[in-house]
Amino acid sequence: MTARTVETVLEAPRPHWVGDGFLVRPLFGRAAFTAAVSPFLMFDWAAPVDFPPSPEPRGVGPHPHRGFETVTIVHDGAVDHRDSAGHTDSIGAGDVQWMTAGSGVVHEEFHGRSVAELGGRVSMAQLWVNLPAAHKMTRPRYQPILARDIPVMTSEGLRARVIAGPWHDAGGAAVHGPAKTFTPLAVWDIALDAGARLEQPLPEGWNVLVSVLSGDVVIAGRAVTTAQVAVAAHDGDRLLVTAGAGGAKLLVLAGEPIGEPIAAHGPFVMNTHEEIRAAIADYAAGRMGDLDPR
Ligand code: MN
Repeated sequence: MTARTVETVLEAPRPHWVGDGFLVRPLFGRAAFTAAVSPFLMFDWAAPVDFPPSPEPRGVGPHPHRGFETVTIVHDGAVDHRDSAGHTDSIGAGDVQWMTAGSGVVHEEFHGRSVAELGGRVSMAQLWVNLPAAHKMTRPRYQPILARDIPVMTSEGLRARVIAGPWHDAGGAAVHGPAKTFTPLAVWDIALDAGARLEQPLPEGWNVLVSVLSGDVVIAGRAVTTAQVAVAAHDGDRLLVTAGAGGAKLLVLAGEPIGEPIAAHGPFVMNTHEEIRAAIADYAAGRMGDLDPR
């Protein structure tokens, strides 16, 4: 058993606002939409912000997506969602929304009503997961994954929520997260106490990304701190991460790369520019549906 070393550490640019509700840092930096992070595309992290009450919920109005999945992991507050496939939902703290845009949806993402009325803290992660060419035009799908349905694995100083993919306990038995995915991948939401270790076997060939949401860790002698993402080298069969003196919160993303061309333009991620032009035309013609006015 050999632990993977670190290939590169990605540096996030400064935070920017998405709509008026989410102050995010795109943690993949320049590696977003490249083979290095496949099957993932992009990862926006909205660290906790305390919002005052507002006359209307803050957030992002109607916009389309095609060709991939959006995964929203809410840590604090709530995010209200509506989409043109008919889903209306409130994603609460600890819940996850796994939305397959597929052939196209129009959706909106706002703070929950109580955040607008009373004020409150909001923090969330939004991950974009690519779809292989064969499934880019699949029918839109919506998976509301509630906190209570996410397995929580614990060992000394470690708490891992297994949102997707396999997790192996100390005896080697595998637990699987509830998310249905189109390609093999894992998403683990992890809290480590000071000095605690995360150790997991991972399949050969999978890309492995360790996103540090707070605190700091050491991976194969390399220090990785808040808002950095360690991209693991393909030189071992397990991941070994040790938390620093203040502990750490991590989102670990791992998966089999999708070895296909990526053509990304705004909210659309396809394989060719021709397909991007078709997506723009289909959205403009209303073929991704629409939302009723709020
Ligand atoms: Mn969106």
